[in-house]
Amino acid sequence: MSRVYNFSAGPAVLPEEVLKEAADEMLDYRGCGMSVMEMSHRSKVFDAIIKEAEADLRDLMGIPDSYKVLFLQGGASQQFAMIPMNLMKNKVADYIVTGQWAKKAYQEAQKYGTANCIASSADRTFSYIPDCSDLPISEDADYVYICENNTIYGTKFKTLPNTKGKPLVADVSSCFLSEPVDVTKYGLIYGGVQKNIGPAGVVIVIIREDLITDDVLPGTPTMLKYKTHADADSLYNTPPCYGIYICGKVFKWLKKRGGLEAMKAYNEEKAAILYDFLDQSSLFTGTVETDSRSLMNVPFVTGNSDLDAKFIKEAEKAGFVNLKGHRTVGGMRASIYNAMPIEGVKALVEFMKTFEQEN
Ligand SMILES: *Cc1c(COP(=O)(O)O)cnc(C)c1O
Repeated sequence: MSRVYNFSAGPAVLPEEVLKEAADEMLDYRGCGMSVMEMSHRSKVFDAIIKEAEADLRDLMGIPDSYKVLFLQGGASQQFAMIPMNLMKNKVADYIVTGQWAKKAYQEAQKYGTANCIASSADRTFSYIPDCSDLPISEDADYVYICENNTIYGTKFKTLPNTKGKPLVADVSSCFLSEPVDVTKYGLIYGGVQKNIGPAGVVIVIIREDLITDDVLPGTPTMLKYKTHADADSLYNTPPCYGIYICGKVFKWLKKRGGLEAMKAYNEEKAAILYDFLDQSSLFTGTVETDSRSLMNVPFVTGNSDLDAKFIKEAEKAGFVNLKGHRTVGGMRASIYNAMPIEGVKALVEFMKTFEQEN
């Protein structure tokens, strides 16, 4: 068996320990004679799996009792509609557009009411996070929306926007559990798990209880109401059982490694290795303004698209895969999520140094 260093933006690298444990339990989960994929979601065994996953996530993030944790499907993209359908009571919401995912959410919300773009970094190809300390928040805004870590452009909010009392809604798909978070600053936090937590097919929503109501937009499908899932503890219908099981294992892995404080320190150390190299390289340059740099997604270029292509090809041969930038921006992007070991980042930088000397 040989595993590569996988720098994919998502679905992405998972901890090897977790994969091995899952392999060991594949045919017979803890003596019950079947795989987690084969068991009823109403069984006692699965009930323990989902309850324990939730408890560990609450523990890791310090989620207060006044927030519900929901394990849903439909990916992060389904939330682009679910959020306005459930939260747009006044049919007004403010969006901060810092990249393609935020833009998609903003465009989707326009179907359901008035979505205002109150700040954007489109003027400099989304290479920075705008100052959000005093934005023109709408008087009757139901919420203010951000994409906290911009997977494609490699930027991250270092300070949350001043929402002037309105609930903050954040897409954290690509920075979920990468550092400690103060949940009380948000009305709703959500993310697809396939970036930093588990397999594609699960989306986690952490929502303040007062935002869960029956007062949703007319025509909202039962399955797209937060209340439906909150009332049923994420078991209204068959949940993505196997994905939740793997997420649960990743939560335990994170706890064993010291929780989110420890992960933050580790992620900062990893990112610094790459950024420090980029800052002094004569060939490679980072594309993001220094104070907006993501710890998770690091885009960079040589300035020559032929050379970029050559680098990506040679890197792949050397066992560094999925370094191609998003199809809309080109260049390279190294996604260095929680499960990417520091050895992988060090080895990548060594490889980049050699490439620089030879080209
Ligand atoms: C990947 C990604 C999405 C889209 O996720 P899907 O689960 O494919 O819908 C949305 N937002 C961010 C920040 C992402 O990184």
